[in-house]
Amino acid sequence: MKVYLLNPPYFPRFGREMRWQDTGRGGTLYYPIWLSYATGVLECNGHDVRLVDAPAWNWDVNNVLKDLKKFDPDMVVLETSFTSLNNDLNISATIKSEFNTPITIVGPPTSQFSEKMLNIVDIVARYEYDFTLAELVKNIEKKKGVQNVLGISFKKDNRIIHNPDRPLSTSKQLDELPFVSEVYRKHLNIYDYFLNYSLYPMVQIFTGRGCPYQCTFCSWPQTFMGRKYRVRSIKNILDEFEWIEGHLPEIKEVFLEDDTFTVNKRRVLEFCKEYIKRKLDITWSCNARVDTLDLETMEEMRKANCRFLIVGFESANNEILKNIKKGFNIEIAKDFVKNVKKAGLLLHADFIIGLPGENKRTVERTIKFIKEIKPEQLQVSVASPFPGTEFYEWAKEKGYLVTDDPNEYLDAQGHQKSIVSYPWLSSEEIVNRVDKILKEYYFSLKYIPVALKQITRRHSLEEAKRLFYSGKMFIKYIFRR
Ligand code: SF4
Repeated sequence: MKVYLLNPPYFPRFGREMRWQDTGRGGTLYYPIWLSYATGVLECNGHDVRLVDAPAWNWDVNNVLKDLKKFDPDMVVLETSFTSLNNDLNISATIKSEFNTPITIVGPPTSQFSEKMLNIVDIVARYEYDFTLAELVKNIEKKKGVQNVLGISFKKDNRIIHNPDRPLSTSKQLDELPFVSEVYRKHLNIYDYFLNYSLYPMVQIFTGRGCPYQCTFCSWPQTFMGRKYRVRSIKNILDEFEWIEGHLPEIKEVFLEDDTFTVNKRRVLEFCKEYIKRKLDITWSCNARVDTLDLETMEEMRKANCRFLIVGFESANNEILKNIKKGFNIEIAKDFVKNVKKAGLLLHADFIIGLPGENKRTVERTIKFIKEIKPEQLQVSVASPFPGTEFYEWAKEKGYLVTDDPNEYLDAQGHQKSIVSYPWLSSEEIVNRVDKILKEYYFSLKYIPVALKQITRRHSLEEAKRLFYSGKMFIKYIFRR
């Protein structure tokens, strides 16, 4: 069958697969990573697939319509996200009005809004969707009907049918997936994508899916990939690293996109040992948690060419960390930072303003903590409660939710707005504090040695280029505000 996988148009460089789904302030653009895995799975099953990344290619809906006419698919698969939901449903409606092709919608909001979506699209594939799509397309091709496909919702005789959820993928199934980096090479332009903490150009891959932690604000485990961490074998991951070194020599870094790559110390150490044994050279970075890594493991990671740790600190206030069920306290976070510096790794620290318990005093404490730990990269986000998360339910119940209209999550440039407002800290103050913290950090003279430290390492030219580009994009963002 001919299947057209679409990351639909919205703002240019909009990150539908980013955690906060907006237009990155520092020029960040994610690969359409989940759609790419699905592309690989469908191709392995013998289908003719076209993968289109409209935000990366700066395409509008007319470009998509022309392209659809040319490709003439049997099915369109369109990905959506919480902050682009209304836009994506409008695009689905436009496609429907021009073509008779069935549309399947995928992405995290499908687990929350399947009935609303079925007013426009034909099928909703809920939660993790690559294996669901494979079975769905096969059944349609063989004219078997869709009634037995797990994980989908659809309409029959004007009734909405929700088939039972598909069990989460297993570790064994993840090992059977094609290498997503092969899909990138075939369908996308790797120079389109940029992470402000990774050497450029880079690829993003998963070594595992799901996260076992309980953070109340985090939507992926609650609405999409589940709370069980399923992992690829070390052999399979390093085979992909070798493939990248051999077939994509221009790639400077692999980013491990797992929610938390460092959950299991033994697995991380085994990965590092095997990486060194295979004499690999390409650098890599990963998401980590402060309570899962000790100094010994960090040192092994450094020896195996790990560069950056991307870490969610979220807040410097123990009360807030407890409210969001983060699972660690600020004392543990401080020890972790000392070890990161001792091991010689770089730190990208994530904070969120506006979480339950936030007030002007807690914001000041977080700012003080940021100045103490001096991360090489700082990210501060607005706390966005997405439907399906405990944070959303809490904000709604307490009356702190300003709106639950997806159009209100982003401003006119595609950057985060706050849809929570507290009597003691308004939504405007939350957004203003985020910008102010970032400006004060990056435009301070104290950041100069932090930047210099990054460009006096291996790959100094690439590090300098990365910093220059993300700095330029950040300045543009600030001047547009
Ligand atoms: S550890 Fe990270 S990925 Fe996991 S639930 Fe918490 S914020 Fe989400």
